[in-house]
Amino acid sequence: MSTRISVTPVDAADIAHYDHETDVLVVGYGCAGASAALDAEAAGAQVILLERQSGGGGSSALSGGEMYLGGGTPIQRACGFDDTPEEMEKFLLAALGPDADQQKVGLYSRESLAHYQWLVGHGVPFKPSLWDSPTWVPPTDDGLMWMGENAYPFSEIAEPAPRGHRVTSDGFGGKVLMAVLTEAVAATGIRVHTDTAALRLIVEGKRVVGVVARHFGETVTYRAHRGVVLTTGGFADNAEMLAQHAPQLVGLGVNSDGGDDGRGIVIAQAAGAAVRHMSAGQVGISLVPGMMVRGMIVNEVGQRFINEDVYPGLVGQAALFKHNLRVWVILDEQAYEEVPVDERWGVQPHFVAETLEELEREIGMPGGALQNTVGEYNRHAERGEDPYFHKSARWLRPLRSPFAAIDVRRGMAPPEYGDGGTAGGGAEVFTIGGLHTDVDGHVLDLDDEPIAGLFAAGRATSGLHSWGYISGTSLGDGTFFGRRAGAAAATG
Ligand SMILES: Cc1cc2nc3c(=O)[nH]c(=O)nc-3n(C[C@H](O)[C@H](O)[C@H](O)COP(=O)(O)OP(=O)(O)OC[C@H]3O[C@@H](n4cnc5c(N)ncnc54)[C@H](O)[C@@H]3O)c2cc1C
Repeated sequence: MSTRISVTPVDAADIAHYDHETDVLVVGYGCAGASAALDAEAAGAQVILLERQSGGGGSSALSGGEMYLGGGTPIQRACGFDDTPEEMEKFLLAALGPDADQQKVGLYSRESLAHYQWLVGHGVPFKPSLWDSPTWVPPTDDGLMWMGENAYPFSEIAEPAPRGHRVTSDGFGGKVLMAVLTEAVAATGIRVHTDTAALRLIVEGKRVVGVVARHFGETVTYRAHRGVVLTTGGFADNAEMLAQHAPQLVGLGVNSDGGDDGRGIVIAQAAGAAVRHMSAGQVGISLVPGMMVRGMIVNEVGQRFINEDVYPGLVGQAALFKHNLRVWVILDEQAYEEVPVDERWGVQPHFVAETLEELEREIGMPGGALQNTVGEYNRHAERGEDPYFHKSARWLRPLRSPFAAIDVRRGMAPPEYGDGGTAGGGAEVFTIGGLHTDVDGHVLDLDDEPIAGLFAAGRATSGLHSWGYISGTSLGDGTFFGRRAGAAAATG
């Protein structure tokens, strides 16, 4: 018999007494949990917010603070961009698909401006200035950035507008986002119970009515009269779940606070919840986008496989899922020098050579592989064209000796991490699949019916995404659908 704590729901008939009672119980105090708690309270419910750690924050507090918002926000307009919900929706359906949740994407796009105002109303700061080149996190506090909307094929699918809204911060903005939301929570009557891990759901018939939790070795029971909202994050830190659902993500670095153990997902599954897109993941490939876009990315036989100006996570997915991360950034001295030092994140070329023939030998590529690729690239770049992958003319220039190569599997880490290691194996990942929910955060069962009393949001769910990912959509859908789940739970 397994020694693990069972995930099977506990029958309410077996609960002798409840230690705490509330209308809405929110489990997990990251961006989704904070937003759920705030809007549940605003809808008139009593709320308890449970958090396993000693304080709120989760992965949200470590994040870059990029939020995908659009439809004509004041920040977009101040930077000179017109945008509409329709164009935003078209882009997201293409970028987060195939088969992204049309209902969620449509609603998210239509209400994005109102969501921006909700965030700003709570004190989340955004600055009206644009960072105008591909990067993971700009080294400045510019408030707006492109997420590949202006790159092929997306530039032909939807009218391009930058929609990456950055929470103003010194470095990564997630800590500011969570500080603001925490302050907002503290200003309400929401009760926060920290150091308390939800272990199992409590059910009465088919309805979820509470949670059994652990607080410093003590078992604590919670009764939620209107609803339980699971906002416990994803499962990238759970090696067993990764192996079961997303084996291609096993063994890589994890982009999380270390606590994405998937518990919230499995306790809901045990109560009949359906899941979606469990094999999907964001792939934060270990390269500096500013270097890649000025040069090229190639596989182990020296061939390009994507236009280098797309959102770098898309490059990461292609590199991992199709080329097992055996990929190199090839650039020349001019390209390297053009990248501002504070955008390089300490990355230096691993191989340098006067000729492509030498570079191929150093890397161990077949003779002629890079010479062919760079020769073709240069021939067209001369005319500002890229007939193979349609990289924007802005980034096209023939590459000239001396050449350099960067092996992405050697890893890199942003200055924000301090001395804290490099991404193992060439990428840091997190999961984007999870509980199947509707637009109001109801967790659905295998018949697509809501499980009474059970709601979820954030990375515990499959939100906007099916397979693709764009930076900002996790904090974006976590806060947006967190709010909706909280409000729906408040109505019981
Ligand atoms: C370095 C980094 C940079 C990132 N940059 C961005 C970005 O710029 N934009 C973006 O959109 N996304 C970004 N992401 C991803 C994003 O931060 C996460 O996907 C998102 O924050 C998840 O939010 P959440 O509220 O679902 O989960 P979390 O913020 O992880 O919160 C979940 C909380 O639930 C708690 N919890 C878990 N299980 C239990 C339990 N059983 N009982 C009680 N509590 C529990 C956890 O301790 C945690 O506090 C980044 C991630 C990292 C790590």
